[in-house]
Amino acid sequence: MRVKLWGVRGSIPTPPLSSHYLKKLKEVLALANGKDLSTPDKIDNFVFELEPRLNSFVGGNTSTTEIQYKDKLFIIDLGSGLRELGNTLMKPDNKFFEIHIFISHTHWDHMYGFPFFKPAYDPRFTLHFYSPHGDLLNKLHYQQDFRFFPVSVDYMQSKKIFHEYNPESTLNFDGVEVSNIELYHPGKSYGYKFKTAENIFIFASDSEYNNFSSMQYYKYIEFYKDADVLIFDAQYSFDQELQRIDWGHSSALVGVDLAIKSNVKILALYHHDPDNDDDAIYQLYENALLYKERNYPDSKLNLILAKEGMVFDL
Ligand SMILES: [Zn+2]
Ligand SMILES: [Zn+2]
Repeated sequence: MRVKLWGVRGSIPTPPLSSHYLKKLKEVLALANGKDLSTPDKIDNFVFELEPRLNSFVGGNTSTTEIQYKDKLFIIDLGSGLRELGNTLMKPDNKFFEIHIFISHTHWDHMYGFPFFKPAYDPRFTLHFYSPHGDLLNKLHYQQDFRFFPVSVDYMQSKKIFHEYNPESTLNFDGVEVSNIELYHPGKSYGYKFKTAENIFIFASDSEYNNFSSMQYYKYIEFYKDADVLIFDAQYSFDQELQRIDWGHSSALVGVDLAIKSNVKILALYHHDPDNDDDAIYQLYENALLYKERNYPDSKLNLILAKEGMVFDL
């Protein structure tokens, strides 16, 4: 199974500003002082060895995840990262013309990439849609109503098939089982588990974990159990989370607790807040690492920051 993150932001696309770039550039130039950078190879090595905060951006696109398994292609969510994913699917070497799309929920940041998804305009492609939310065709039509977008869904010439997918049911795709869990979020969101004979990948964004009974908490632990990778909504700091009850998002610290109780191998912090620049996101990440070290010193959980373009080869 190969998973690629095409968008890791929440709420609204957040392209880096020139001021963000300049801040990184100044730090890099300070580190370059006195180094031998006289050849392109030496420059490559220097750049490669910089800490990730300095030689890349966390990324500005919203929720879009691609999963490849053998001859199957799955996409979770239609956020702004979908545009770039669509561009790669239009290349001559693409071999995926049947695409299975799972929608966590229909808030803008998980939907507004669809009008910019080139395969949707191409009759060679068949798009299968799944979500316990249902009524997806109407919602896509609404998003592309002429008052909001100039091109109707009817003009998009791909074949579109909308499948029934009930809460807590499981679908099978030649060796991939896909199950779902309802998440606590305004209007409900759904998490998805992709399970093969070898691996478990779980996407569980847009979820709050406050005010739950132990029964409900246990339900999450059961669903996340033994995941190789868990993509987790870590939009807020713990303090923000306490102030934003019922906003429908969570923090890295809650993610660490749940992931360790569920025996997750890699926890990827996701759905970064648009008001946090890279430095702020890395600070939340550092705090989460510290929390894990202090509270679970023996844990083998690999805690990482979800970044745009990140690939998991499972
Ligand atoms: Zn969202
Ligand atoms: Zn949402």
